[in-house]
Amino acid sequence: MLERIERLWTGGAWLEGPTWVPSLGALLFSDIPNNRVMAYDPASGAVAVHRSDAEFANGRTLDREGRVVQASHGRRAIEREDGGVLETLVGSWSGGRFNSPNDVVVASNGDVYFTDPPYGLHESGREGHPGMQDYDGCFVFRWDGDAATPVITDMVHPNGLAFSPDESLLYVADTGFFWVPDGPRHIRAYDTATWAGREFVQPSGIADGFRVDAAGLVWTSSSEAVQVFSPAGDALAAFPFPERVSNLCFGGPDGRDLYVTASTSLYRARLTPAG
Ligand code: MG
Repeated sequence: MLERIERLWTGGAWLEGPTWVPSLGALLFSDIPNNRVMAYDPASGAVAVHRSDAEFANGRTLDREGRVVQASHGRRAIEREDGGVLETLVGSWSGGRFNSPNDVVVASNGDVYFTDPPYGLHESGREGHPGMQDYDGCFVFRWDGDAATPVITDMVHPNGLAFSPDESLLYVADTGFFWVPDGPRHIRAYDTATWAGREFVQPSGIADGFRVDAAGLVWTSSSEAVQVFSPAGDALAAFPFPERVSNLCFGGPDGRDLYVTASTSLYRARLTPAG
């Protein structure tokens, strides 16, 4: 189901947020500590700086119109890029500012869901501006174009997130163990009708970002691997990578590439039919 893993580029500090952008014919990804967004052009093989002074942008996705929507540690906001212009979609809620939005998905009705752990507020300033939390917790929010509302409030550090194909479930990774002794490092599944949650899987490694394919398989970062789980939570496959994987996405000119950000490098692999 995956072959020809190749390294396309190296030289980042910590890469995240890969998203294939059809309107650009390119892959955008974040180099968070270097405070820039990069673009990989598969036609030329070149990687160029797409945006510097990027306010520590992290995860990203596309909205229904194909525009880039991304999580900004530095602005503590969700923003959208349209024709090269950045616009803040939402930067506060009734509890004050967000912590440092980490990853984001857009539902088929246009609602934006994002995770809000505190990593961008760390005193090191490596991934954002040092600061304090305005609210006591790390929630998953829904923004409906008007207001942001917390929908998940029982996680330690919600990180990557993705819907099941029918959007009946929202999967969310918890990377709480980074900062909290014995903290979680699993993926939970939430029923989007009731927001009741349960543990979905405990990957072998660390799950940060992940995606769900059209068949409902969950492709997740898992330390130095990409691990694939069935909707029932069965571990189907694991593909080793030379560096710790942060995130991944499907894309490429024919949609059959898997792009993987792993520590300092960008990788690509080829998706092959199941069976
Ligand atoms: Mg993340």
